[in-house]
Amino acid sequence: MEVHNPTREYPNPCEYKGCTKKFVRKTCLLRHEQSVHVKSRNWQCPLCDACFARKDTLRRHTEDGCPKRFELRHSAPASNRPSPLSNPAPIFQRLM
Ligand SMILES: [Zn+2]
Ligand SMILES: [Zn+2]
Repeated sequence: MEVHNPTREYPNPCEYKGCTKKFVRKTCLLRHEQSVHVKSRNWQCPLCDACFARKDTLRRHTEDGCPKRFELRHSAPASNRPSPLSNPAPIFQRLM
């Protein structure tokens, strides 16, 4: 009879609260902790300041998940353009 001991197969359980993940290798556990729990969020969204642990996650966010990705496209050209209503009066008075 085969004995399947889960603790023997996965001697590296994640010790974070509420997490039931177990890993065969210590390196797998460490990688899991880094990506899921530690959140070494080195990749920050330039639009909404959301941070991501992985570069591809950030890219997917900026392309398809960022709540401000449309705002930027609309507001950027307008803010660069000088507003026609900002100083009409002084010019008008000088022409008079
Ligand atoms: Zn975990
Ligand atoms: Zn964002």
